[in-house]
Amino acid sequence: MKISRFTVNPFGMNCYILWSGPGGDCIIVDPGMMVDSEKDMITSFIDGNNLTLKHILLTHCHVDHACGARWLAAKYGVPVEAGALEEPIAEQMPTQAARFGLKIDSTPLKIDKTLAEGDVIQFAGEEIRVLETPGHSPGSLSFYCPSSSVIVTGDVVFQSSIGRTDLFGGSFSVLIDSIKTKVLTLPPDTVIAPGHGDTTTVADEKIYNPYL
Ligand SMILES: [Zn+2]
Repeated sequence: MKISRFTVNPFGMNCYILWSGPGGDCIIVDPGMMVDSEKDMITSFIDGNNLTLKHILLTHCHVDHACGARWLAAKYGVPVEAGALEEPIAEQMPTQAARFGLKIDSTPLKIDKTLAEGDVIQFAGEEIRVLETPGHSPGSLSFYCPSSSVIVTGDVVFQSSIGRTDLFGGSFSVLIDSIKTKVLTLPPDTVIAPGHGDTTTVADEKIYNPYL
């Protein structure tokens, strides 16, 4: 499985495309494209590599992670999948956009399929395991691929930092518990692919992250 990172929107949000190779399948995590050039970048990659989009996964439904999901879902006929507790946040997409002063087309986002702890997505001969990692947002999910030793965490943990907990449904103690029980318990060489900034590893965050 290959993983490609696309950093989009004014928040510098990392959208990831997991793909099996040219002509194969792909999964997109957090399509936060806000402008046409960002949408073109994503569709050029998908179409240019003749990929079939199988899943649109959201780590959570903050506007910077989810604002391109509805558009992408309509374009490719693929459902939007996220945690059930993110539904009220998804519905508030226009309010979120207004709060951050974003002049983007935004409509309430409907989650087509909810995911929960223990769900497994079969992709390119690998398992992608769904982990519930609340705290930054109440329905935050992380996607762990043991065969590739990578976890996509959204805004749960970053290189030497953690997600903010002052937004709707956030909780510092819940976030710390999620990181310690769901992320730091993975093998040390597991690569953390976060929602903002560079990749890191479980081993490095155990040593260097001042919040943990
Ligand atoms: Zn967020």
